[in-house]
Amino acid sequence: MAHRIVFLPGDGIGPEVSGAARRCVDATGVAIEWIDGVAGEAAIRQFNTPLPPQTLELIRRHKVAIKGPITTPIGSGFRSVNVEIRRQLDLYACLRPCKSYAGVRAPYSDVNLVIVRENTEDLYAGIEFDAGSPEARELESVIRRLSRQPMHPDPALSIKPISAYATERIVRFAFDYAVSHGRKKVTAVTKANIMKSTDGLFLATARQVAGSYAGRVVFEERLIDNLCMQLVLRPQEYDVLVLPNLYGDIVSDLCAGLIGGLGVAPGANMGRDAAVFEAVHGSAPKYAGQNKVNPTAMILSAALMLEHVGERDAAQRLEQAVAAVLREGRRVTYDLKAGRGDASAVGTSQMADAIIEQLR
Ligand code: NAD
Repeated sequence: MAHRIVFLPGDGIGPEVSGAARRCVDATGVAIEWIDGVAGEAAIRQFNTPLPPQTLELIRRHKVAIKGPITTPIGSGFRSVNVEIRRQLDLYACLRPCKSYAGVRAPYSDVNLVIVRENTEDLYAGIEFDAGSPEARELESVIRRLSRQPMHPDPALSIKPISAYATERIVRFAFDYAVSHGRKKVTAVTKANIMKSTDGLFLATARQVAGSYAGRVVFEERLIDNLCMQLVLRPQEYDVLVLPNLYGDIVSDLCAGLIGGLGVAPGANMGRDAAVFEAVHGSAPKYAGQNKVNPTAMILSAALMLEHVGERDAAQRLEQAVAAVLREGRRVTYDLKAGRGDASAVGTSQMADAIIEQLR
């Protein structure tokens, strides 16, 4: 039976890169029934909202979606569709493999690590109060009453919720991923020496979960500042990293840099009942409609999707096809060429054609 996959093309460069990924998935020969949905600018035009309930319902029903990047309109009052999809579907785990590919210019050639970022809480949960607002003043007076810590008058405040519940499930996700993918080590990353309550709870919970994987996967702890330095110096020493939301966000971009940038960084947001696969990069509106940008990140996200639906062989073939085209370095987009003005660069869709040829 064909896999039913919801397809959300996205905004800006989204339709070009997600279209390229869809063609590559079809070329693997896996039977897919694509279920077309809308989100972002197309949905605003059609339904006056960037995330219509029908779209969420489609993902809930079919459980798997592939999504092009979506523009967050500045100052329009719309929240980020990406954040909202993760929240509504409780996609609590953000998975970002960072792997070096020959042919991609990058500071290292032998990085192969996976970032598992908690997606639902932390400072990123968006519980914020503007300086001088009645809410901030009320909260400030409560904090002054409960805490001895000095604060300057009228601060803006952000709340950092970290729960044992959310931590346990993300750390378990990281260990389960390590086991199912033959990975040897999970590193929990915090600032528990300073944030003893929040990051302390994350670390204590991680230690507890790690106990049930003892003998199968090595557990290690790092402070976030030290980790950043070590990633820059010796990224090869890391395998699976599990982090609270905000550190995960920042370290993801750092690691994307280690492997050559956003053009080659795939991702997935996964929950108990649904998973949405998307590149790390955004909709790069200035390149929209030019058949110019790199489809690699989106195609590698599609390979993650194939693996998720049980098509491991096709996922591997697709990744190998991408690797072969990158290695050869001939039919690749401008950003993968040595000079930005290189006339031999091909377009998004021609690079996808080259990958498809490798699959034949
Ligand atoms: P961006 O990732 O869209 O673009 C930043 C720059 O990175 C681009 O100008 C381009 O030089 C480069 N780049 C990105 N993707 C590339 C590709 N595939 N090939 C070659 N170069 C590439 O980030 P931004 O400009 O900060 O954001 C633009 C919009 O995208 C914003 O509205 C933002 O909210 C949204 N966004 C969406 C998602 C998502 O849908 N998951 C993620 C990030 C940003």
